[in-house]
Amino acid sequence: MTDKNQGKTVAIDENGKGGECRPQEHSLTEVEQNSVKEATLAPPGVERRFRQTDLPAHFIERRKHPRISTEQPPVPAPPLFEDYAPIIGKPELDEIRFLARHLRGKTVKMVNSTALGGGVAEILNRLIPLMNELEVLTRWDVITGGNDFFEVTKGFHNALHGGEYNLTQQIQDIFTAYSEQNRKRMEFAEDLIVIHDPQPVGLVRSKSEMQGKWIWRCHIDLSNPHPGVWDFMKPMVEQYDATIFSAAAFTRQLSTPQYLFYPSIDPLSEKNKELPDEYINKVCDDFGIDRSRPVITQISRFDRLKDPVGVVEAYKLVKKYVDCQLVLAGGGATDDPEGAVVLQEVMESAGDDPDIIVLNLPPWSALEINALQRASTVIVQKSLKEGFGLTVTEGLWKEKPVVAGAVGGITSQIVHKLTGVLVHSVEGCAYQIRYLLTHPEFAAQLGKNGKAHAKENFLITVSLKRWLVLFQILLGMARPNAIL
Ligand code: UDP
Repeated sequence: MTDKNQGKTVAIDENGKGGECRPQEHSLTEVEQNSVKEATLAPPGVERRFRQTDLPAHFIERRKHPRISTEQPPVPAPPLFEDYAPIIGKPELDEIRFLARHLRGKTVKMVNSTALGGGVAEILNRLIPLMNELEVLTRWDVITGGNDFFEVTKGFHNALHGGEYNLTQQIQDIFTAYSEQNRKRMEFAEDLIVIHDPQPVGLVRSKSEMQGKWIWRCHIDLSNPHPGVWDFMKPMVEQYDATIFSAAAFTRQLSTPQYLFYPSIDPLSEKNKELPDEYINKVCDDFGIDRSRPVITQISRFDRLKDPVGVVEAYKLVKKYVDCQLVLAGGGATDDPEGAVVLQEVMESAGDDPDIIVLNLPPWSALEINALQRASTVIVQKSLKEGFGLTVTEGLWKEKPVVAGAVGGITSQIVHKLTGVLVHSVEGCAYQIRYLLTHPEFAAQLGKNGKAHAKENFLITVSLKRWLVLFQILLGMARPNAIL
């Protein structure tokens, strides 16, 4: 709600008193203002304020000492292509096999900046074994760099999302030096070279006319980049034979062809496969989560753009009226140096509320994350900026009602009030969570619609098909408008 006299945005509390709002966010729309009033003001004569019940001691104890696995479990064998038949149907599998047949024996190299943590690693982990099974010979390489390099690339990441940035000559030199170091260490003899995201974009200097086709797969929103950083990157990007973005709105004007690919999830991965209820109970027990009460969950790296502190604030508004627990689970990707600082900020904002469970999970926690998502009553992804937001896709696939920031690729996944709900502020987020907790039938319908939407658009098999078509186009085996 906007206090026009003072010209700044304020949030209302249950007494109608104001406190200052988070700076990055929009002020509330009129519809949201009415919603917030409805959510935060009790009707006359009705006491709707939630009274805190005593949490049994064993939950308090387990929350203080969650059982987080310290050892990486053995990596299970990847599923076979045929295993997807019960999910997508045999005709769809046959179509993909037909596309792959023409590419049999072709070689592909995919390069990104981290093997663990984050959405890109998640996708490559599943896509690459499938391509190999279809005899499109694909390998995955990861660039290396010191802390100075990853600080620069993190700065670039934020700047390309539109943040302030001071692009000095020294920063450019660090980026160029590590690009060169990696370029000299790697070979690029494959038919197709796919470079993911800005960190390794400079490898394209190794492109030569004689060799394969180069593709830049950009997973982030470039619609409003810091001009200096974009001017630095653009000449590299324009050397590629093709670029791929996750949403039409994310692109820049480029002299080279652009394609739209949604990212995807693997329904058979540890992160997304069906789980027995006993395992979900065990994970809840390990982390001190009480399954008899509603659970609101955000799974994300501890990154300010994921707004974990905003989620805590929204939960606090909800908690005044509805009993619930908040789970914030995340971990550090190896290319994200800010994580520890943001985790500290989250702990401070959580304070001593025993129903806020903050979990710093190791990178091998896919099964635990799957269980947490399945144990959730509502899944939140309150990002302020987002590439695509795979955690949203994961929530949709698990048939959960998802409340998410109306940013980036989240808007391709959530059709407001049909496949989930979109929010623009802490108060809007609180309102929607509270609404879903108190309207379970509507929540269940959103979950059903969300799953159907994810199946149609965001499964790995859909993405695999697109890659195969694009490879055929770039290798001159197919004409773009004949197939796409
Ligand atoms: N993830 C994870 N462990 C964590 C936090 C996130 O495995 O501690 C996973 C999450 O389940 C999702 C991916 O990492 O599959 C995050 O992808 P998303 O597109 O949501 O965000 P990104 O981290 O790429 O910005």
